[in-house]
Amino acid sequence: MRITVLGSGTCELVAERSSPAYWLEAGGQGILLDLGQGAWRRFLNGGHQAAEVDAVVISHPHPDHMADLIPLMFALKYDPVLAAQARISLLGHSGLEPLLGALNQAWGNWLNPPPEVLTRRWLEPGEATLLGEVRITTAAAAHHPHSLAWRLEAGGRSLVYLGDSEASPDLARFAQGADLLICHCAGTDREPKTGHLYPAACGRLASEAQAGSLLLSHFYRVVDPEQAAASAANHFGGKIWAAFDGLHLELAASGTIAPPGACND
Ligand SMILES: [Zn+2]
Ligand SMILES: [Zn+2]
Repeated sequence: MRITVLGSGTCELVAERSSPAYWLEAGGQGILLDLGQGAWRRFLNGGHQAAEVDAVVISHPHPDHMADLIPLMFALKYDPVLAAQARISLLGHSGLEPLLGALNQAWGNWLNPPPEVLTRRWLEPGEATLLGEVRITTAAAAHHPHSLAWRLEAGGRSLVYLGDSEASPDLARFAQGADLLICHCAGTDREPKTGHLYPAACGRLASEAQAGSLLLSHFYRVVDPEQAAASAANHFGGKIWAAFDGLHLELAASGTIAPPGACND
């Protein structure tokens, strides 16, 4: 299992941090976790092609987490080369369906690629599904009525992506024993943001979940990534990474590692 951070930022339009998106390679599948604005540019500049994507997972319907879904749907309808190659599953909460319907209507039916090219798979909290060899389970995240937290397991490794969320005992249970827990650390310890995590809470959640390692991401300007990692480390003894766009992590049997040159850690 290997993950690349495409976007470690938020809604803020800054050059160094694109909006939330992660490229996960697991069990022979290529999966995009969220598609915030700028995700495609990071992905394509990284040498990838859109047809490599087997699935797109949307954590919740906020624009910074799904804006780049629009160019994908448009391209799958009007780029014949991509439409001939791509077979993509779109996974999200069922509450996404009416929003996509409204967007398609607003754009005059330009965002409705054929269902065999983009297959919608809606899930409710607690539901599970298989994507090739990847087992996917969901839980309600504490952020938006249509938020889902995601657990992905393949080849004996597991990753939990909370999306935006506060912590809860249920989410600590959901993330239990994950090799990597991805937390969106949007607030500071002094100024937490409602519906989000802050550094100390990320550390406590990773500790309660007995996670193997922790990736902090979704940084606003006011959050210093290194200070956030240091604060989380007061509560969690495992490896902690502060995300930046382009960070690669391997979830190996020996633990989560960054390949040489992939990180300034
Ligand atoms: Zn959000
Ligand atoms: Zn967000």
